[in-house]
Amino acid sequence: MTDDFRAVVASNPDRAGVFLDFDGTVSEIVEMPSDARPVEGARAVLGELARRLAIVSIVSGRSAGQLLGWLGRDIEIWGLHGAEHVVEGRVELSDFVAPYADVMAEARAELEKRCAELGLPGVLVEDKAAIVGLHYRNAPVAEDAGVKLEAIATDVARARGLKMLPGRMVIEVKPPVEFSKADVVLRLASEHDLGAAAFLGDDVGDLRAFDALDELASRGVATVRVGVRSDESPPELLERADEVVDGPEATVAWLRSLLAD
Ligand SMILES: [Mg+2]
Repeated sequence: MTDDFRAVVASNPDRAGVFLDFDGTVSEIVEMPSDARPVEGARAVLGELARRLAIVSIVSGRSAGQLLGWLGRDIEIWGLHGAEHVVEGRVELSDFVAPYADVMAEARAELEKRCAELGLPGVLVEDKAAIVGLHYRNAPVAEDAGVKLEAIATDVARARGLKMLPGRMVIEVKPPVEFSKADVVLRLASEHDLGAAAFLGDDVGDLRAFDALDELASRGVATVRVGVRSDESPPELLERADEVVDGPEATVAWLRSLLAD
């Protein structure tokens, strides 16, 4: 499988694509999310590969704007699990999310107002355009804050036909459409008529992208699932991987090896 992928990269680079997660894959995992940065050499090798292959794309849960600042315009960037992407240096909502832009702005304003009325300290309302996040990690009694925020978010989401999703110390309100890393990979693979596709990721969310590669493989695409090992990488991801690399620096070496073939 891996050899097939490398063969396409060598003989038909314009039909090969590489997709990557960001945190833990291209960047070390950091305590403060805003401190993340691509590891040394990552940007250069990604840029060089992007000039050679059909597509090189980061597919991350982070906002596309943040990724654009760190990675520049050489590669494709899909943020918020595909809800937004970078087009000519600007962040745009994806087609399936754009119709909800106005109602999401309304929901955000209402959530800010309701949170202020509640007067909970340590709660952060994060505006990611396609998603609004209510973070309560820093609330003095986090569990209590979580219960109250979930009630508000449920109310605001229900009144507007949106979806409420509890996460780890965060509650999200988002459009009622499904989107995931798998959708991004499948769509881009078909747009670029890929004959070979690789995905590199380190976390449980990347299993969806591995699923997408399985589907591509069933259609005859040469695929490689690369698991990036960290202290936190789930065993299932490493078990399903065709190849395992040790952390973001090894990701860079793996990418360089594609240029050497
Ligand atoms: Mg990750």
